Amino acid sequence: MTHRQAIKTGNEAEADAAQTRRPSASPRDSAADSCRPGPRPKRGVPEGLWLKCDGCRATIYRKEAEQMLNVCPQCGFHWYVSARQRVEQLFDPGTFEEWDGQLRPTDPLGFTDKKPYAGRIVSEQRRTGLSDAALTGTGMIRARRVACGITDSSFIMGSMGSVVGERLTRLVERATSQRLPLIIISASGGGARMHEGILSLMQMAKVSAALARYSAAGGLFISVLTNPTMGGVAASFASLGDLVFAEPRALIGFAGPRTIKATIRVELPPGFQTSEFLLEHGFIDRIIARKDLKSELARAIDYCGG
Ligand SMILES: [Zn+2]
Repeated sequence: MTHRQAIKTGNEAEADAAQTRRPSASPRDSAADSCRPGPRPKRGVPEGLWLKCDGCRATIYRKEAEQMLNVCPQCGFHWYVSARQRVEQLFDPGTFEEWDGQLRPTDPLGFTDKKPYAGRIVSEQRRTGLSDAALTGTGMIRARRVACGITDSSFIMGSMGSVVGERLTRLVERATSQRLPLIIISASGGGARMHEGILSLMQMAKVSAALARYSAAGGLFISVLTNPTMGGVAASFASLGDLVFAEPRALIGFAGPRTIKATIRVELPPGFQTSEFLLEHGFIDRIIARKDLKSELARAIDYCGG
């Protein structure tokens, strides 16, 4: 079996997914995903008006957080944003055009964990409005055309299966042939997707090989790491940027801290696997707050002659 057999294409798949697709999640939905609800509100206060911040535990007025692009106004903690919200935040209005949205995941191994993978795909598609964990395409950032891929941690933890790997590879190949700057924003807690076994693992090498060709052709690749970027995603394309940016206080690493601690049997240093720790140790180039990301990406592209 080739990896391409693990991907469903065409009208049939489009029709399957059309039923499960819904409009992109609003900031309200996504903030609710990443924050536990606050204390039971007083009578008459609409439910969900307040959020409890995972960073500082403060109770935050939801509207205020939304106006700050899902960043806590008290402590600056960056909450989850969906891939489609990212598009709205970064691209000049109406300029983003999706690529390879017709690719659909299949279940080549007949994999079952708590529930069958085939059923899990359908329920994740229905819940997130995405067909898989990566959205790719082209658009304008402050009037500069770029190729861009975004992974979404709410779809099976943003893990990389065949469709994520294939979309990213085609994205890199198009960026190479069209000589576009390339931006990949990672939000992947799951690394390689175990449900597709070796077909997932090979995506790390496939995307990385495409990036090597892109680099040889002189392309500029900016990798943006957000909370969380872990496992096979961190171990492949997310670490290969010419420039590697991160959002503040993002969790970034390969194995989780508990696994490492149990393996090497030492106390891990404070702040281990955070953006700030990794900046200090030379793994990333800059930490950029979400509100500045659009302008800083545009500036980096200009600076590098993209
Ligand atoms: Zn906070």
